[in-house]
Amino acid sequence: MISILGSTGTIGVKTLSLLSNTDLKIFALTAHTNKKLLANQIIKYNPSYAVIKSKNDAEYLKQLCDKKKISTKILSGESGLTYVSSHKRVSHVLSAIVGAAALRPTFNAVKAGKKILLANKESLVMSGSLMIRTAKKTGAIIVPIDSEHNAILQIITAHGSTYNSKNNKYKDDIDHLYITASGGPFLNYSQSQLKRVTVSQAIKHPTWSMGKKISIDSATMMNKGLEVIEACILFNLKPSQINILIHPQSILHAMVHFCDGSIISHMSAHDMRIAINYALTWPERKSLKSNIKKLPLKELFFRKTKKNEFKCLDLCIKALKLGGSAPTILNAANEVAVENFLQNKIKFTDIPVIIDQALKNIKITKAQSIKSLLLCDEHTREYVKRYIDNKWK
Ligand code: NDP
Ligand code: MG
Repeated sequence: MISILGSTGTIGVKTLSLLSNTDLKIFALTAHTNKKLLANQIIKYNPSYAVIKSKNDAEYLKQLCDKKKISTKILSGESGLTYVSSHKRVSHVLSAIVGAAALRPTFNAVKAGKKILLANKESLVMSGSLMIRTAKKTGAIIVPIDSEHNAILQIITAHGSTYNSKNNKYKDDIDHLYITASGGPFLNYSQSQLKRVTVSQAIKHPTWSMGKKISIDSATMMNKGLEVIEACILFNLKPSQINILIHPQSILHAMVHFCDGSIISHMSAHDMRIAINYALTWPERKSLKSNIKKLPLKELFFRKTKKNEFKCLDLCIKALKLGGSAPTILNAANEVAVENFLQNKIKFTDIPVIIDQALKNIKITKAQSIKSLLLCDEHTREYVKRYIDNKWK
């Protein structure tokens, strides 16, 4: 049975559309505030449980289930998320909540030894090797959905590399790898053009259709930086082993350069259903009964990123190298900055300034426990909110 954390989001909705390709039954669906869509999903999919943040929304859903004689049990808040991510009847947990809010339920699923289909990259960025070390102990398996990481998994699975959960290593034969980036809607914009970009321009990604936060992260290239951290943790690589290529067509998602000089790449249409379907059926490959656009395979364009070209990307590499709680500080500062940009309180170009400020001024500690990382997340958010209030009064 599967629990879908974030079923009302872009990834959650796509996953629901693919479940009929699998034998998985739905244990739970969860949402934050979108009670209308969650209600429709309950009526359509009849899960054992549904979770929503507020008690009021949970009451609304309970009354709806009573009225329609639906057996779904309604839970609320953090305890509801914990219950459905670690319940013994659950084999798979899709982690598709956006941002740091996914950390606790994803970690609970890891502690309970589940198969985690991981779309949420922020939880891995924050917890780093702690998540992986815990998975080693409990036997949890983390299958990435993020397209580049899913592409790497496809390459190494097809190549015959086997995963050893005891030492978090695939066969020791990756020399280095490439992940691609579309460059977002503002590729090649000058600094003065970037200062003037609006929220509606920034959330309009040229190739992918995604939630607002990841769309902004793609426009700042923060997303690619988070993905470098994600790749280092997932595949146990050093930052120097990961290269980024700008590839605006978003057709080739990753290339793995093996130790014998061979390079194997993964290409597909830019449609997250391909990655989700693979994660749902991994290590098997099962046919996707959906209409996927044909690839316009004429010329493929790639270029390396230039030095100092993307400030948020550089900050991610800095945080990765600093280690400990630095990625948590980076992530929390970015989330608050993005929220403020979405509310038109700061400019697009203020986002890296704010993250830099947080990384320079907040003490970096060891990433010892989820509790300490969540405290660091909270502390950073308070610091950044104060900084924004003072600077942009
Ligand atoms: P969306 O914004 O579309 O959806 C987010 C989901 O999380 C919604 O179900 C939302 O509920 C829920 N949610 C939001 N805040 C909270 C909270 N505080 N507590 C509990 N639930 C919450 O995001 P996406 O689907 O685009 O992205 C989800 C994750 O997947 C992100 O981490 C993103 O980086 C990653 N990802 C997404 C890709 C994509 O193509 N979209 C590609 C690769 C990775 P509600 O609807 O009620 O607000
Ligand atoms: Mg990605």
